[in-house]
Amino acid sequence: MLELRPICENCKTLLPPDSTEARICSFECTFCRVCVEGILKNVCPNCGGGFVPRPIRPKNNWKDDNYLGKYPATNQHKHRQVDLQAHRQFAENIFSISPELR
Ligand SMILES: [Zn+2]
Ligand SMILES: [Zn+2]
Repeated sequence: MLELRPICENCKTLLPPDSTEARICSFECTFCRVCVEGILKNVCPNCGGGFVPRPIRPKNNWKDDNYLGKYPATNQHKHRQVDLQAHRQFAENIFSISPELR
């Protein structure tokens, strides 16, 4: 199940489950929109993949207990600030390739 991580891995901006600013890669590396667009250039520093908006888990129990109350966000804070220089080098040859072709 998708881990709803509580902060941006780079800048620690809070990303609660209902945030529309949260972005994830396929490995669930979680960053805020500002970091993804501004700093990361849509290249995950951990895997080189692209990001998509994190889906919002419903807070209401619409069906069969599949909701936030039963499956809450994790409170494990994963913070690993991105080394900007290293990321520039890493992303240099990747960011211009669209994610589906990486
Ligand atoms: Zn951020
Ligand atoms: Zn990643």
